[in-house]
Amino acid sequence: MMDSRRRAVQLIGVLAMGLLTSSGAIAQKIVVAHRGASGYLPEHTLEAKAMAYAMGADYIEQDVVMTKDDQLIVIHDITLDRTTDVAEKFPGRARADGKHYAIDFTLAEIRQLAVSEGARIVNGERVQGYAARFPMRTSSFRIATLAEELELIQGLNKSTGRDIGIYPEIKSPEFHLAEGKDLGRALVAELKAYGYTSKAQKVFLQTFSWEEVKRLRDEILPEAGIDLKLVMLVGDEEEYQWMFNESGMQEVGRYADGFGPEKSLLIAPDSTPGNLKISNLVELAHASGMQVHPYTFRADEGQVAKWAGSFEAMLEAFFFEAEIDGAFTDFPDRAVEFLRER
Ligand code: CA
Repeated sequence: MMDSRRRAVQLIGVLAMGLLTSSGAIAQKIVVAHRGASGYLPEHTLEAKAMAYAMGADYIEQDVVMTKDDQLIVIHDITLDRTTDVAEKFPGRARADGKHYAIDFTLAEIRQLAVSEGARIVNGERVQGYAARFPMRTSSFRIATLAEELELIQGLNKSTGRDIGIYPEIKSPEFHLAEGKDLGRALVAELKAYGYTSKAQKVFLQTFSWEEVKRLRDEILPEAGIDLKLVMLVGDEEEYQWMFNESGMQEVGRYADGFGPEKSLLIAPDSTPGNLKISNLVELAHASGMQVHPYTFRADEGQVAKWAGSFEAMLEAFFFEAEIDGAFTDFPDRAVEFLRER
């Protein structure tokens, strides 16, 4: 009698756990491939996206910018200088600040550019941003359109039978609007054309602009007749400070489904191994109905938090002490492996 009752109780416990998991009440933690597997191949190339896919990332990120002829391309900066040879191929096309803006070039022109590992200028010389990554100016890479990237991911979803999500970002929406281009509207139209229409699907639409998040929720998405999960990206800049309390976070939560902070806003950089200074932002975001996906987790030299000591120890603290729901990382293989073992 006692035995069967105990067995029944155990069984109910197992069933309840199964129900919680399958209903999503306990959300699964996710890995977002930041600009693809950008720790290994030049960021935002289709090659980096295919590698991220093969590494088992749950979502793959697209930063989206518009060209002169209104085409959507996948690139992080609104300028072409850091990741391409634009200065050599198109002399005399820089603006007064010396930079070449994607919005001043047609897609046909952008197709002619060679993409390589990101560089910074040191004493007039191009120096690779992350020295240990894919060698700058080797092999052959190009800028892809958003359509090409969505077709790559959807094609792989078909051929592998998996369902890997997308995580597009509207880059500098105010800059685009000032240039006469409504990037937010164009991006939503493209997502709709590729079948992304509901919050139930694996798509998060992100931006650093609070005004754009509100515009998406109040105008653009309703006008398109679709509903997508929105993520409010934030840094430590003054413009976001009002959000970092209970009422601010509730206001953000009225519009956004996710909160994407710079990771040092969650665990202070001056934490020590025995004393992690964890902010209340994850708690506030969860209480406002938002998931939390901080950026950016990098394993390169000098990029691992000093209090952590290793990339994996850093993930452990963020995922299981700060209790984040997902992470943007340049090294999706390492994060996928970490969560699998955990
Ligand atoms: Ca981004």
